[in-house]
Amino acid sequence: MPNPFRKHSPRRRDSRRSKNWTIHMPGLSACKNCGANHEPHRVCPQCGFYGGKLIVAAKVKKAKKGPEEGKEGEGK
Ligand SMILES: [Zn+2]
Repeated sequence: MPNPFRKHSPRRRDSRRSKNWTIHMPGLSACKNCGANHEPHRVCPQCGFYGGKLIVAAKVKKAKKGPEEGKEGEGK
């Protein structure tokens, strides 16, 4: 059964392990619409634009419906 010819030195071992633990930052690119930083080839999380087109509409908080507004909706 083949065996490793030589034991790897602690330096070589630790160097290998250090590579696995480095944290890679994703490359950021500026949005053409709003200028915010976002991941390339992804929809901009700020404005929802990709490739100059609106892909995801921005979420708008809905105002809480009062009792009067609810009655208006039923009449229609
Ligand atoms: Zn944007």
